[in-house]
Amino acid sequence: MTVPRRRRGWQCVAALSISGALLLPSFVVPQGSHGHSPRLLRRASDRSDESSTLGLSVLIAGAGPAGLLLADRLLSAGCSVHIVEARQDPRSGSLEGRAYALGLGLRAQQTIRTVDDKLWETIKPSGFASERFKLHLSPKIAIDLRTPEDNNGLEPSLLIYQSDLCSAMLDHLETNFGGSGRLRISFQSRLKFLNAATGAASVQKGEQLEELPSADLVAGCDGVNSAVRSSIAAACPAFEVAQTKLPGSFKVLRFPQMPSELDPTAVHLFTGKGGTSAFIEPTARGACALINWRDGVNVQELPSLGELQDPEEARETLSSYFPAIAEAITDDAGKQFVSQKASQASTVKCNTYHFGRAVLLGDAAHSTGGVSGQGCSSAMKDSVVLAELLQREVGGAKRDTLEVLSMYSRQQVPEGHALLDLSLGPSEKAGPLRKALYNAASLAGTLLSKLGIGDPPLQTLLTTSLTPFSDIRRDRDFFFGEFPQQEEFDSMIERWERLDLLRKEGSFCDVVMLSSDGQRFPSHAVVLASCSEKLKKIMEQAKAGKLQQVQSREENAENGSAKPEAVTGASAAAVSAVLDFIYSGQAQLVLNVVPEVARLARRWDLNSLQEALASSVASEDGGLTPDVVAGLFALGEPFGEQLGAAARTFVLNNFSSCASTDPFTRWPQKVLEHLLKSDQLVVTNEEETLLWVARWRGAKAGREDAAVSVLSAIRWPLLSLSTLEALSDSKGFANGAFAETVAERCKAAKVAHQGLEALPHVRQGFCGWWSGLGCAAKGGVVIAGQGSPGKEPLKPKAIRPHEGTLLVLDGTEEPGRVVQWFLRMHSGRSLAGKGSELQDSFEDMADIWSGPDDAFYILDRDAERVVQVRSGETEVASKGTIRLERPCGVAVEGPDRAVYVLDREGSRVVRYVRGRSMQVAGGTEPGAGPGQLNAGPTGRIFAAKGGRLYISDTGNHRVQRWDPGAKVGITVAGGHGCGSGADQLSHPGGIWALDNGTVYVADVGNHRVMKWRDGAKAGVLAAGGYGPGDGLHQLKEPVDVTVDALGALIVADFGNARVMRWSPPSISTELLAAVRG
Ligand SMILES: Cc1cc2nc3c(=O)[nH]c(=O)nc-3n(C[C@H](O)[C@H](O)[C@H](O)COP(=O)(O)OP(=O)(O)OC[C@H]3O[C@@H](n4cnc5c(N)ncnc54)[C@H](O)[C@@H]3O)c2cc1C
Repeated sequence: MTVPRRRRGWQCVAALSISGALLLPSFVVPQGSHGHSPRLLRRASDRSDESSTLGLSVLIAGAGPAGLLLADRLLSAGCSVHIVEARQDPRSGSLEGRAYALGLGLRAQQTIRTVDDKLWETIKPSGFASERFKLHLSPKIAIDLRTPEDNNGLEPSLLIYQSDLCSAMLDHLETNFGGSGRLRISFQSRLKFLNAATGAASVQKGEQLEELPSADLVAGCDGVNSAVRSSIAAACPAFEVAQTKLPGSFKVLRFPQMPSELDPTAVHLFTGKGGTSAFIEPTARGACALINWRDGVNVQELPSLGELQDPEEARETLSSYFPAIAEAITDDAGKQFVSQKASQASTVKCNTYHFGRAVLLGDAAHSTGGVSGQGCSSAMKDSVVLAELLQREVGGAKRDTLEVLSMYSRQQVPEGHALLDLSLGPSEKAGPLRKALYNAASLAGTLLSKLGIGDPPLQTLLTTSLTPFSDIRRDRDFFFGEFPQQEEFDSMIERWERLDLLRKEGSFCDVVMLSSDGQRFPSHAVVLASCSEKLKKIMEQAKAGKLQQVQSREENAENGSAKPEAVTGASAAAVSAVLDFIYSGQAQLVLNVVPEVARLARRWDLNSLQEALASSVASEDGGLTPDVVAGLFALGEPFGEQLGAAARTFVLNNFSSCASTDPFTRWPQKVLEHLLKSDQLVVTNEEETLLWVARWRGAKAGREDAAVSVLSAIRWPLLSLSTLEALSDSKGFANGAFAETVAERCKAAKVAHQGLEALPHVRQGFCGWWSGLGCAAKGGVVIAGQGSPGKEPLKPKAIRPHEGTLLVLDGTEEPGRVVQWFLRMHSGRSLAGKGSELQDSFEDMADIWSGPDDAFYILDRDAERVVQVRSGETEVASKGTIRLERPCGVAVEGPDRAVYVLDREGSRVVRYVRGRSMQVAGGTEPGAGPGQLNAGPTGRIFAAKGGRLYISDTGNHRVQRWDPGAKVGITVAGGHGCGSGADQLSHPGGIWALDNGTVYVADVGNHRVMKWRDGAKAGVLAAGGYGPGDGLHQLKEPVDVTVDALGALIVADFGNARVMRWSPPSISTELLAAVRG
C-alpha cells in the first residue's frame, strides 16, 4: 500500500494499494538534497511547456494573501483545492477585524503578476498607489525616506487594506475556477485538528466539527497563530518553532481622508512622545493610521494609550501624543480607539517549513509582526515558490510530493530567517557596539543615499528590489554576525533523516532491538527514548541490562556486540516497520503485520504511529480488511483507541467475513463474547452467530467450556421457531456440554416466541422473529412495486396467493385491475381491468379472493356484485334475493364455493350459494355489540375452513370471529379501543387466519402486522412496527396480509406502493452439523 500521489476531486480519500505492501504516509523529510537557489518568478502561462498537470488534492488553511495566491496557482496547475477560512467572507463585511492597510511593493507585485496581469489589474483599483515615505522626526523636521526618484521608474507601492486585497483575490479565484468543480471555499470554518502525517483534518463550523477527507497536501496559510504549525509541533520531535511577542501594542484608526497638513500621497511615520509612533498611510478608502505604544510607559500627566477607556479622553490624549495630526483625531477616532482591543504583534521562526503532508507558508512559517513591511510579499513569494516546485518537480519530473516539500523548506527557510533578522536589527549577541554602529550606518546611509551616494536605505531596498533577503542579510554580516550558509540550512532540515542513514549504516548505534524471531536491529537509544516515556524506560532498562533475556552475554559478545538489548516480542517485519517509522516517518509493511505494529505502537505509546496506522488502514477504501481486523482482534489486547474504534465498527458490520479468516480461530473467548453481545452486530440472522460460535469451538481442542460460556451471548429468541425446534431436539446429539446447552437454551427460547417473555434487544435485526419467523438483519424483501427488481408500479389494495403466484388488486388507476404477479420473474400480467381482456367489465374493484381451484373473485363495489373469473370467463357469483348494498369485502369457501360478502359498509355478512342468499353475521344496524359489526368501507372478511368467518371490524378496532350458525361474534384480536398497545389495533384492514386459529392482522393505523394466537389476550408484532417509513423493516399503511404455502408473510404495503415478504430462515444442515459435531 502507498499513499496515492494524485486524486480526483474531494470524494476520494486515501486509497492505498501497491502489491500488498503498506506504505505509511511520509512523516519527515525524505532522502535527497536538491538545489535551493532562489528562482525567477514566472507566470503560470509561461510554464505550461515544462510541466504536466498536477492532480493533487490540497487543503489550504487560511484565506489570507498566501492561501489565496497558492490556491490560484495550484488550481491553474490542475489541483483540487479546498480553502478553509476561520473568518467570514471579506466581501460580505466591513473593515472590522482586518482593518490594517498593507504596502505592496515590487516583490508583492511581482508575485501577484505570476498569476496573470488580470489579477493585478483586479487588485489595483482597491488600493492607493504611493511612492513617497516621510519620516517625521519632530512636528517641524521630516525626511523623505522614499520619493518617486528612488523608485527608479518602478511601479509605486500599492497601499491596500488586507481585506480589500483578499476580496479582489477571491473574486479572481471564483471567476476563473468557480465552475471548475475543483475549488471549494468554506468560510467561518476553523481548522482545529490536523494529522500532518496523513493529511486528515477536521474543521469547526459554529458548533459542528466536520471531518475532512485526507488531502495529498495541507498548506498552513493560517497566519501567525497557525493551527497547522501547532499540529506539526505536536507530532514532530525535530520541529522547532519560536514565537515571540514584540514589545508594544497597536490599534488602527481609520480617517475619512489624510489629515490636511500632510502630503495626501505619502506614507508618514511620526515618532510621538514616550516611544509612541503613528504610521499613516493613504488608502483607496481614506487614511489608515497604525498607533503603536509601549504598555506602562506614559509621559508626564498623559495616561498610557493602553489605559484609555473614554472616547473623549482618548481623543484628547492621542492629540497630545501626536499634535501633528491632532486635527484628524476626531470624536469618531476616539470612539474607534476605545472600542478596539489592543493587538500585539509576534514574530515566528521555524527550523523547517514542512512535515509529513503539511507545509507552512507566510506568517504561519515566518512572521516579522509587520515590522519589515514585507510580510505580505514574503508570504506570497512562498506560495509562488511552492506552486512552481510542485508543478515542475511533481507534475513534470514526477518526484514525490513530500520530497518536494523538503526542497521548498530548503529554499524558503533561509529567506524567512533573513527577513526576520533584517526586521529586528542586530541581536543582543552582536553586542552593543555593533548595534550602535548599525544604527549609525543606517542613518548615514539614508542621508547619503539622498545625495546619490551608496545603497538605498534597507526599507527602500526591501521594497524596490528583488534581491533575495538572504543575500541582503549576508551583506550585513558585519553588524549582525554570520548568516548560515545554504549547506547549514540544508543540514538543519536534514538532521532527522540523517539519523536514519546512521542507523542503516549501523553507526553510533548503542542499543539492539530484538525481534521474537531472533533478528537484531541496531538503533540509537537517544532517538527511541525521545519518542515516548515508555520507550525511554525501555532504553534505560536495556542499558541497565534488565532486558537481556533472549541471548546470553556470551552469545552477545560472540556476535561482536556488547550492546544493550531490548526484547520486543514482535516479528522482525513488525520491528523493522516501527523503527522505519520512528526514524523516517514512513514504513512499508504487508497487511498481516499491521496487528503487530499496532500492538507495538500502543505498548510503546507511539501516538503518531497509531494515528498514521488508523488513518491509513482505516480509510474508506484503505487497508481495513477482514484479515487485518480479525488479526487485530486475535492479539487479545487493546491496539489503540482510533484504530480500535475503526476495527470494531468494521468487525460489527462485516462479522461473517471476519469470522471466515484464519485469525478468527485464534480470537480469545472474551473478544468473541464481547462482539457477539453487541446490539450493533450485523448478521443476516441469529442463526449465523450460533454457527460461528460452533465453528470457533471446533477450531481448537479444549474449547468446550469456553464455547458454552460464549453461548450466553446468543440471543436465542431471535432464532426462528423452526431452528429452535430442530436444535432443541436433543436426540442424536453427541453427549457434549455444548450441544446440550444449545438444546436447553432452544427449549427455553420457544417460550419467548409465544410472546410470553421479555424480549431481548433485536441487534440490527427486524421483523416478527417472536412470531416464529426469526430475525432478519435488514427486514423484509420487496417482491413487487417500488424498490423491487420489477419496474411495474403497483398500489396494492389486496393480495391473495394464487396457484404459486400472487394476485394483487392494484389501485393505481380507477376502477383497479387484478395483476397476477410471478415472483421469480419480478413481473406480472393483468387478469382483469386495464391491460386485460376484461378491460371494461368492472366499475370499482374493492376486494379479491383466490380459489378454490384456478378461479378468483372480484368484488365490484359500485356494481354491487361479486364476479367469478375462471379461464378468462366471468360469471356473477352473488346471485340471490338479498341485494348487495355498498359491499366492502369478499371471501369464498367450501366445496360449494359459498361466497361471503361483508356488506352494507361492513355491518353485515351475506352468504351466497347456488343462487340462494342469507345474512350470516352482523346485525341490522352498524354497532359495537357482540352481535354487531361496524367495519366501514375498508373492512375485510376471511373465510376459514368449515365456514368460520373472521371479520376485520375496522370501525371497532377489532377482529371478530363468527362460527357457522352463531348469533354473535367473538373478539379474537383487538377490541380494546383504537391504540398501538399489543392488545390494541388501529383501523385493522386485511386479515389471514391459519387452521390453528392464529390470525394475522394488517394493523393499518399502526403501520404493522400483528399476530394473534387463538385465545391470546394480546398480539405479537409480526412485521413493521417501526413507525411509518419505507425502510425494509418498516411499513406504511399495510392494508392486507397473507401467508404463503412456505409460511412466509406477505404484506400489501399500500403507502409504500410495494409488496413485502418476510420469510423464515430455512433450518441449515450446516448449523445442525456444527452444533452437534
Ligand atoms: C499591523 C500590521 C501591518 C502590516 N503591514 C504590512 C505591510 O505594509 N506590508 C506587508 O507586506 N505586510 C504587512 N504586514 C504583514 C502582513 O499582514 C502579513 O505578513 C500577511 O498578511 C501574511 O499573509 P498570510 O496569508 O500568511 O497570513 P494572514 O494574512 O494572517 O492570513 C491568515 C488567514 O488565516 C485565517 N486563519 C487563522 N487561523 C485559522 C484556522 N485555524 N483555520 C482557518 N483559517 C485560519 C485568518 O483568519 C486569516 O484570514 C502587516 C501586519 C500587521 C499586523
